[in-house]
Amino acid sequence: MAVYAVGHKVPDSDSIVGAIALAYLKNQIGEEVIPSRLGELSPETQFILDKFGFEAPELKLSYAGESLYIVDHSDIALAPDDVAEATLLGIVDHHKLGDLTSDTPLECWIRPVGCSNTVIKMMYDFHNVEIPKAIAGMMLCAILSDTVVFKSPTCTTADIRCVEVLAEIAGIEDFKALGMEMFEVKSAVLNTPMRDLVMRDFKNFNMNGTKIGIGQLEVIDLAIFDKMKPELEADIAKLRSEEGQHSVLLLLTDIMKEGSELLIISDDEQLTEKAFGKSTVDGKVWLDGVLSRKKQIVPPLEKVFA
Ligand code: MG
Ligand code: MG
Ligand code: MG
Repeated sequence: MAVYAVGHKVPDSDSIVGAIALAYLKNQIGEEVIPSRLGELSPETQFILDKFGFEAPELKLSYAGESLYIVDHSDIALAPDDVAEATLLGIVDHHKLGDLTSDTPLECWIRPVGCSNTVIKMMYDFHNVEIPKAIAGMMLCAILSDTVVFKSPTCTTADIRCVEVLAEIAGIEDFKALGMEMFEVKSAVLNTPMRDLVMRDFKNFNMNGTKIGIGQLEVIDLAIFDKMKPELEADIAKLRSEEGQHSVLLLLTDIMKEGSELLIISDDEQLTEKAFGKSTVDGKVWLDGVLSRKKQIVPPLEKVFA
């Protein structure tokens, strides 16, 4: 039986770097943990791994009979399909408490901060373990990604302080420039199949028995999507017919204008009116100031389905 650290399905940089950083910490304190992942890397995550000279964690979908640390969520819908047959040793996260549960006592590090890697930094401090330069650099990038370079309403002073300390360890002078470089990589959406874009940062949620899929693409200038929108809308409609969600939402987030255009296909035409107080026009609505799926999109939707 092996022990793995793994993030959520459709892994983002926080999930991948978090698995690596947590496994390294555990190995330093005498617990053998292997970092793994539940899906392909995004271009942003590949950029981070290349920059700091790391290999991708092993792709592993089945964990029956193994032990697990879960990073960056606590939801059954985002966990390995056979998570019920694994032993949950711990959760390290920064989202609302989900529906994962355990048969045995477990270690929980859950804080209302902007990124799991901020919590992992607290764990390094707690165990008094030094963070290697390259891992510090990757953790810094994960925090800048999750907090949209501190612009997201999910960002806390703990995240900012953490980035400052990690920048010092990693020897990165201008971390904001590195953050923007990362978002430029993220903004390269041209010549990519529509389904790849829709699924790049996609999560299915179980809202009181109703399945809702929400994807997000964060770019520096939304104009890049101008010609693509009809194809993106067609693809989320196709995805919904394949996966059977009540609604599929795709957030096109402009990190400079600090808002999101929401594309939606839903059984309920009034859903955005009910959740966000704004109705859609041709299946689209601009939500000013909305950058965060977990803080600004999921909670109002959950209220509608409560
Ligand atoms: Mg995540
Ligand atoms: Mg995260
Ligand atoms: Mg994100």
